Amino acid sequence: MRAVVLLSLFIHARSEWQSVIGLEIHAQIQSRSKLFSRAGTSYGASTNSQVSHFDAALPGTLPVLNRRCVEAGVLTALALGCDINMVSKFDRKHYFYADLPAGYQITQQRQPLAVNGQVTYVYQCSRTSRVERRSARLIQLQLEQDSGKSLHDSEQRLSLIDLNRAGVGLMEIVTAPDFCGGDDAASFVRDLRDVLVSIGTCDGKMAEGSLRVDANISVNRPGEEFGVRTEVKNLNSVKSMRAAINYEIERQIQILDTGGTVVNETRSFDLDTGETVAMRDKEKVLDYRFMPEPNLPPLVLYSQRESVPLSLPSSQRPNVVVLEEVQGQMKELPEDRRKRLETRYGVSLINSVILVRAELDELFETLVTSHGCDPGSASHVVRNNYNAFLDERKLTWRDSPIETSVLAEIVRLYHEGKVSGSAVSVLLSEKTLDGQLSVSEVIERHNLWMLRDTSVIEAAVTDVFSRNPKMIKAYKKGKVNQLDVLAAKVMKKLEGKADSRLVLTMVSERLKD
Ligand code: ADP
Ligand code: MG
Repeated sequence: MRAVVLLSLFIHARSEWQSVIGLEIHAQIQSRSKLFSRAGTSYGASTNSQVSHFDAALPGTLPVLNRRCVEAGVLTALALGCDINMVSKFDRKHYFYADLPAGYQITQQRQPLAVNGQVTYVYQCSRTSRVERRSARLIQLQLEQDSGKSLHDSEQRLSLIDLNRAGVGLMEIVTAPDFCGGDDAASFVRDLRDVLVSIGTCDGKMAEGSLRVDANISVNRPGEEFGVRTEVKNLNSVKSMRAAINYEIERQIQILDTGGTVVNETRSFDLDTGETVAMRDKEKVLDYRFMPEPNLPPLVLYSQRESVPLSLPSSQRPNVVVLEEVQGQMKELPEDRRKRLETRYGVSLINSVILVRAELDELFETLVTSHGCDPGSASHVVRNNYNAFLDERKLTWRDSPIETSVLAEIVRLYHEGKVSGSAVSVLLSEKTLDGQLSVSEVIERHNLWMLRDTSVIEAAVTDVFSRNPKMIKAYKKGKVNQLDVLAAKVMKKLEGKADSRLVLTMVSERLKD
């Protein structure tokens, strides 16, 4: 019954409603010290061990802007295709909460560091194999302080405050309402995280709170104006983000379909129930009483070293941020790496996504350009077998026990059809164990050569057919996918070592009997 209701809701949703999502992303800047103080920023340090007088808002303390944080913000803005404001300003945003000792947060309300970005990302559907490039607009990127953390001890009925996080630099990145659902927004955030990590401005660890997402969600009928939105706060994994957005879309549709109205409110997501719950009403109260931060001058950037005015005192010259110099720290971005794999080596979009995300694209290129491997076989082996091999052992390819030349030899054997895909996985593990043996010796010893002996395959087919008469009947009644299932069973019986195309042909021949 429940399944039927859900299904009809889904069809309904797709035919009559469209959803719109805009994101506000808080990315902690990877810097040794905080945005306005010299206290440290290490995650997991003992409570209140990284708190300067300024972070604790003691009267008379003053903010000193951390140049590294500004550079990280500028580098990020450049990577995200933003226009940089050569002059930006700091403001106080007032609200009262125990983990905000000053009673206000320093942020950039009037004039943020950067505006108008554009990001290309790869949309990946979680239900189908659909993958495609999309693009989203960024409204702005601003610098601001993180707050402290409150820890609630329900047994002792106490709230404890840890100010280690108070004043850590954040980049708030605000997107236009350019996403259409949970998968879309999740794909964007994954790619954004890869960009930040690759340029070293944020460690991207969502589980540690280094990257947190607020999702604004609304639904409307095609052709009509955007609907009233709700905001789901503090999503700290890609998975919960996707689930929260999809839940919220369905919830809003259900309200509108039953004649209700969506309330503009802030909600939180409960990972256990998979539901969003109201936190507070956004239309009410919340006057942040923004005002310019009197203790910080406007943040001025320079395009080149030569454009720094001579009037600037020499003691301040080393502290200026020069765009040209920041641009010089730019790394090749994930999107450019994906594009290169596609255009230069004919790698598919999904394979280039996987290789770049796993940081295996450079290895792939080395295999092809320095070791003469076939690009198709190299991307197959690296993406499937080698990626899993490294993952299991928590290794990067640079500290892998398999040398690149050995991997190249394995790719060649795979390409020549001498070993099957699943034999490659076994081979990788065995080669690590049999340190001294050559690749072909290991293949020999573990009997991993590709199996093409038709009498052996024939025997396996006979065995599988005699055990699965129902499948054969089903196939003959038109369930054609049984062919693949039977072939997979034969492959399994032959320990994955047989030539899969040969197996498929032999199974389909036998089904004609
Ligand atoms: P606020 O002033 O409340 O912060 P903004 O205009 O700055 O609102 O937008 C905040 C976020 O909400 C942005 O990411 C934007 O894309 C998103 N947003 C705005 N309107 C909608 C809407 N109708 N549906 C979904 N998201 C929206
Ligand atoms: Mg806003």
